[in-house]
Amino acid sequence: VKDYLHKHVLVIGLAKSGLAAAKLLHRLGANVTVNDVKATEEDSSVKELMSLGIKVVGGGHPLSLIDENPVDIIVKNPGIPYSNPLIVRAKEKNLPVITEVELAYKVSEADIIAITGSNGKTTTTTLIYEMLKVDQKQPLIAGNIGTVACEVAEKATKENVIVMELSSFQLLGTIDFKPAIAMILNIFDAHLDYHGTKDEYVYAKGKIYENQTNDDVSIINKNDNEVYALSETSRAQKIYFSASSVLENGVYIKDECIWFKGERVITIKDIVLPGEHNLENILAAITAVKLRDVSNEAIYKVLTTFQGVKHRLQYVDSVEGRRFYNDSKATNILATSKALQAFSSPTILLAGGLDRGNEFDELKPFLKNVKAMILFGETAPKLERIAKESGIEHIKRVDNVEKAVSAAFNVSENDDVVLLSPACASWDQYKTFEERGDIFIQAVHKLK
Ligand code: ADP
Repeated sequence: VKDYLHKHVLVIGLAKSGLAAAKLLHRLGANVTVNDVKATEEDSSVKELMSLGIKVVGGGHPLSLIDENPVDIIVKNPGIPYSNPLIVRAKEKNLPVITEVELAYKVSEADIIAITGSNGKTTTTTLIYEMLKVDQKQPLIAGNIGTVACEVAEKATKENVIVMELSSFQLLGTIDFKPAIAMILNIFDAHLDYHGTKDEYVYAKGKIYENQTNDDVSIINKNDNEVYALSETSRAQKIYFSASSVLENGVYIKDECIWFKGERVITIKDIVLPGEHNLENILAAITAVKLRDVSNEAIYKVLTTFQGVKHRLQYVDSVEGRRFYNDSKATNILATSKALQAFSSPTILLAGGLDRGNEFDELKPFLKNVKAMILFGETAPKLERIAKESGIEHIKRVDNVEKAVSAAFNVSENDDVVLLSPACASWDQYKTFEERGDIFIQAVHKLK
């Protein structure tokens, strides 16, 4: 990769990905400067960079970094907004602004399967990875899912295939990025605070197809109008999936089975992962792995054992016939409504958290199987009103998730589902949704 040799690269944002990008660029022969508001000489990452001869500028985003120093390329952390003064100045000067995903593409010898969408990215990415792994296709997993893409990509060989989860923030910073297989699962109104307008959010997602050619494949959800319209821009071969109509040349459902181009892949009742929404993720994953010749046996093995990604409608355990599910990742009403639709058994819903001003009336249509609501956090009073107006039998306010688990158990009966799906972010009481989910899991295990 000669693109970065002797180039002056400014890396803005020194999280895990910024550190990896700076070191990679240094290895590629670039002249690297790193800028991060919070960087100080005491940080171990700063020390490491300085020992390599990389300049680190902390304390702000001084424009002199661009105005008084040579800069050819900017590598931006996806979380830094385009309104950042340095990025504004870079754009004025027509400097390319990329994310480390672009670097990953440039250094990778392996094919990339890229997954984006508003919801279901992590689940679909994990399913694809697991199916490829069972069939020994040497997959690597990278991107938004927690491993830095450029770090994984540099190590990859031609024998590997990289399964990459991408956010719209990451995609906005791509230029030549060209995945062999690309998919947009769905598009909902999300992150409009960052992207400004829906158009821009859709544009960012659409970048996943931008450089694809006839050798590549775009996987398209036939049931999402927005995705379907966007896919018209793709020059790749197209393959469609649908959860509701039969597509002879794609992936579809017929007679309670999933089919790929007329071949039966699996019976739906054998699939462990609950929920209509997960069925779409499964269809998308099957489409991708079928294109890499994964066997139906491997797909079967994964789908009959995979219990969900941690904190995403994850099956935790059964205690005296009550099934416990952890959906701590459900930080909005849409996600909780999806979770509620996944169960037909009487359900005890554990919900509440950070108050963002929602009134939760949109939850009402999904509460018909809910027999009890156990509420905690800032939004407990608002959720209590919804519960009362919906005629829920048992309503209880508790201090936290741990107490919610025992309160739920006390009103539960054999065959009930106990579901943590808070419909709120966790930050009023817990550092992260992961911490909240872990506390739930521990409390469930304690019941035994
Ligand atoms: P992401 O990585 O895009 O945030 P996840 O796989 O982590 O997606 O799922 C997050 C939440 O989004 C899940 O708990 C579920 O409630 C909801 N969800 C997952 N897949 C879909 C889908 N295909 N359509 C709608 N909602 C979904």
